[in-house]
Amino acid sequence: FSSAELEHIRAQFPILRRDLHGHPLLYLDSAATAQKPSRVIEAEATFYREANAAVHRGAHTLAGEATELYEDARGTVARFLAVNDDEVIFTSNATEGLNLIAYAIGNASLGRGGAAAAPYALREGDEIVVTELEHHANLIPWQELAARTGATLRFIPVDDSGAIDVDAATGVIGARTRILAVSHVSNVTGAHSPLETLVPLARAAGALVVLDACQSAPHLPLRPRELDVDVAVFSGHKLYGPTGIGVLYGRAELLNALPPFLTGGSMITTVTMEGAEYLPAPQRFEPGTPRIAQAIGLAEAIRFVDELGFDRIAATEHQLGARLLAGLAELPGIRVLGAGIDAPRVALASVVVDGVHAHDAGQVLDNVGIAARVGHHCAQPLHRRLGVTASLRVSAGVHTTADEIDQAVAAIAGVRHFFGLTGENA
Ligand code: PMP
Repeated sequence: FSSAELEHIRAQFPILRRDLHGHPLLYLDSAATAQKPSRVIEAEATFYREANAAVHRGAHTLAGEATELYEDARGTVARFLAVNDDEVIFTSNATEGLNLIAYAIGNASLGRGGAAAAPYALREGDEIVVTELEHHANLIPWQELAARTGATLRFIPVDDSGAIDVDAATGVIGARTRILAVSHVSNVTGAHSPLETLVPLARAAGALVVLDACQSAPHLPLRPRELDVDVAVFSGHKLYGPTGIGVLYGRAELLNALPPFLTGGSMITTVTMEGAEYLPAPQRFEPGTPRIAQAIGLAEAIRFVDELGFDRIAATEHQLGARLLAGLAELPGIRVLGAGIDAPRVALASVVVDGVHAHDAGQVLDNVGIAARVGHHCAQPLHRRLGVTASLRVSAGVHTTADEIDQAVAAIAGVRHFFGLTGENA
């Protein structure tokens, strides 16, 4: 973006006008949650002010308007993903989406869903494959599914650089693989996963492919069909949308074959005291009063990024990411996790400062108004594999400027000075 465009983008984020400890807020934590443009905040507020009602089956006009807005939001998400409306399920976040699919498959494994669901049932000896760099949200639900069904959870290791080991993948994905669950972009290294290798391996094994698209959806066009995945999930709040809303895309045949995860009202055709018949997707997976205002806010966020255009977002963020990595590479005593990975990446870096705990480093940045994330970023196994317990992560959004990246690099350089450490191995 040109500096005039960036100024225009920044003016749309009211939070960027606040300060932190006397410094203008420098927000570099978009990978945890993105800030919200005014139009998203307004879209949600306008719904509450003008059209709030429970959706579906209301006889009154407001209920009809609310339903139309909610279903329009679904249509906006479907167009964003280039899929059909009934393949879009609204969840509360990506975590719920991943649990939804894991529990639905677990229910199929218990015999729920009958003959239609049987092909997706897991048996003892079946294998679920993840990678060593997954966020806990794309690991623990699969651990639980394996424990409930007797399936075995296997993982594709990462190599010393932090990259998914594609050579090892051929030995892990095989005839017993029933599910491959993998992230599109790592929330620790920012590197794209080698889907072009992993997905065909899973397909050859006849496995379902579940994609955790949390860290890709805000940065590049997400096309589940082109990627040949069966399921893709992401969170609205990382895509400049509200909290409390996520999306699960599922191939229609799969969704309509699987039994539900959560059950209750608004998802049935008939109910007796003994049992219930379920509606097809999406209703089958959206019991209860849905996240109406949040879905409407998410649709507005999608219009916001669509208007900016992913080609331009990606080009700008690519430059910021390269500038960030180049700047950090110059600094003594700073290790960037995954710096050596040979793959495209988003504008994000997790660093370890020699001799300084990530939390202390984060505090030093906060003192000068920089919001960064510290900890294991819900990826403990990856941190363990790379020999560290925690890191300091900075991540850019559409409002991030090159000057902000330079300020962050300078602040990270200053961390070791702050603690009286200088030189390579102080
Ligand atoms: N997967 C990845 C790669 C993530 O970065 C996150 C968010 N930190 C999640 C899953 C979970 O998202 P949420 O907390 O919004 O459910």
